[in-house]
Amino acid sequence: MMKASVIGYPRVGTSRELKFALESYFKGEISNEVLQKTAASLRKTHWLKQAGSGVDFIPSNDFSFYDGMLDTSFMLNVIPKRYKALELNAVSEYFAAARGYQGANGDVRALAMKKWFNTNYHYLVPEIEDTMEIKLTGRKPFDEFLEAKSFGVKTKPVITGPFTFIKLSRFTGEKAVSDFAGSIVKAYSEILKEFNKLGAELVQFDEPILVTDMTTRDIQLFTNLYRELLNAKGNVKVLLQTYFGDVRNCYTEIVSLNFNGIGLDFIEGQKNIELLEKNGFPSDKTLFAGIVNGKNIWKKNYSKTLPMINKIRKHADNIVISTSCSLLHVPYSLKNETKLSNSCKKYFAFAEEKLVELADLKILIEDVNPSGNSKYMENAKIFNEARSNVDNLVRKKVSTLTEKDFTRLPAHQEREKIQKKEFNFPLLPTTTIGSFPQTAEVRANRSSFKRGKITEEQYKTFNKKKIRECISLQEKIGFDVLVHGEFERNDMVEYFGESLNGFLFTERAWVLSYGTRCVKPPIIWGDISRSKPITVGYSVYAQSLTNKHIKGMLTGPVTILNWSFPREDISLKESALQIALAIREEVLDLEASGIKIIQIDEAALIEKLPLRKADWHNEYLNWAISAFRLVHSGVKPETQIHTHMCYSEFDDIVKDIDHMDADVITFEASRSNLTIIDVLNSCNFRTTVGPGVYDIHSPRVPSVGEIKDALNKMLAKLPKEKLWVNPDCGLKTRGEAETVLSLENLVAAAKELRKSL
Ligand code: GLN
Ligand code: ZN
Repeated sequence: MMKASVIGYPRVGTSRELKFALESYFKGEISNEVLQKTAASLRKTHWLKQAGSGVDFIPSNDFSFYDGMLDTSFMLNVIPKRYKALELNAVSEYFAAARGYQGANGDVRALAMKKWFNTNYHYLVPEIEDTMEIKLTGRKPFDEFLEAKSFGVKTKPVITGPFTFIKLSRFTGEKAVSDFAGSIVKAYSEILKEFNKLGAELVQFDEPILVTDMTTRDIQLFTNLYRELLNAKGNVKVLLQTYFGDVRNCYTEIVSLNFNGIGLDFIEGQKNIELLEKNGFPSDKTLFAGIVNGKNIWKKNYSKTLPMINKIRKHADNIVISTSCSLLHVPYSLKNETKLSNSCKKYFAFAEEKLVELADLKILIEDVNPSGNSKYMENAKIFNEARSNVDNLVRKKVSTLTEKDFTRLPAHQEREKIQKKEFNFPLLPTTTIGSFPQTAEVRANRSSFKRGKITEEQYKTFNKKKIRECISLQEKIGFDVLVHGEFERNDMVEYFGESLNGFLFTERAWVLSYGTRCVKPPIIWGDISRSKPITVGYSVYAQSLTNKHIKGMLTGPVTILNWSFPREDISLKESALQIALAIREEVLDLEASGIKIIQIDEAALIEKLPLRKADWHNEYLNWAISAFRLVHSGVKPETQIHTHMCYSEFDDIVKDIDHMDADVITFEASRSNLTIIDVLNSCNFRTTVGPGVYDIHSPRVPSVGEIKDALNKMLAKLPKEKLWVNPDCGLKTRGEAETVLSLENLVAAAKELRKSL
């Protein structure tokens, strides 16, 4: 019988138990003992769930209190000096690295956090110092293996592979990867030896870095590491697990090493099948074929999956079916959803339901006549019915789009002149990114309205009061372009999703983003359309209160798409264009209602940029940038379009950003020592820019001098006519007092500098 493997299981708990336990622990409300108990009970539940579902290779050590990379660092003695110097106990030291520490023993910052490949999960970046001795000091993987064994579950320990670990580490001194290669191999060899002693059958080394662009040197290093490491295998079998893409640069090297199993992703790694076809697969190894999508929430259509498995089987004698990546990236269970209708629910598979899919497929693949099997027939019934999610009008609009629809006229330079006359702004115009502090009062107003405790009238009256206060504050401080403050918005994607046709919302489909933070992405269920204006009311109200310009505030199509669970029955491009058409209608309505400046946020524009450069344009940027252009191409020349991004790491795609053809772009810059400015300068970036002058992620108030310094650095590289002054991002997470002080200093700095220009 074919076997099934799970790469990793979500760890927070179906009701986010781990999150709440951790937060209580951080506040000192519960002891470490209680925290450990909660964790142990979650691990047990998850192992037994998988065992009961018939998973043959069940992961252990996929649990973490905060992050798996952080666990690996601590296991390998990669603990920066600044944490050791605090002289805390082991648990507190771990959380100091995770979250920073401020207290009796000192004041240190946390490890940096980075996006985990092309997901919305974030890992803590290991820091390797010259004086560090990398060695196996932790027992976590062994303890968890034994713990599972005590419940009768024989697990497959999951370890971040040595190559991915060092490739994602930051080397803080003179030394580099090669200086640590020997000690890393030794540490990982010891892991294998220990698992030999404990009687583990299979150990999984996760090496997702292999699906990114690898240089010849990378491949050599990888090969050298494993050639030596695999000598320590003994009786333990070793599975090299990859995910999030294909291994096109190193397939032949991988299969010639002494691994027992190789895990390939056939969902995101479409090219993996070509690699198999071209090169075959060694008969002495097992192919772990990732065919159940670990990143999306749609049920598999068995009539398509079975032929796919058979196609893979043609090239590999021994296969195990598997999830495409860890199930960490999907929510727990449909059982938690009480409000979704069954007619929708039947299309979904969250983590628990994916276990059922693996079990079904195991049986069906051995069946000589699967289509006669009731499991198959039940599944086929769902996919044979037409899904009520098609909107022919929208389809037609998308299919008849032409080049003209993506082109705003007149050209950028021409518009710049027209708008200069229209607005007559001073040099260094000042503005904010949109949201103002979401105080407890603001959140209470929204939640009372949602729970039916206050009327719509009361809800709106409160929001209008907040808008009035916000406008008068901005006027008093002296901003040139004002915003209404976004008090009606909980989240920049959910707010629009709720007002558009085609979205579904869940109650408890939480997914871990980092540490204890979970997000609940909406589901794109069908074709997207807008039936009525969404933001016009509040924007027009705000504009009625002032003679200054109000900036309308929208979320762009790519961000809405990237922060939702996308459809699998139509392409991402098609969905993006549908959303773009809906937001375009909103843009035109705002314009018709007298709003002359409109910001279209693309906070998450490059979040799903493909992992390999060769795929950037064809597979992503071409349609993503087009979708943005479609949103604003219909406005008058004198209407000014702004956009905003939450980072400035777009050095490699500056041309594409310019090609969005916005009039003004604001982005985060204060934490990244302004290297982007040089790139903008050397590319003759034509879009006017507002690089954030202070970091809104911290409550710290920047001084006038500091802001002037930042602006002077920008002015040294950019024409003064091309620069706006604004914070890094929205202010919703900040307190009111610090916000007022920071904004006063921002405007004061701009005004002082203007005099000297
Ligand atoms: N306009 C949004 C705000 O200010 C933008 C948020 C974001 O970029 N994440 O909150
Ligand atoms: Zn932002």
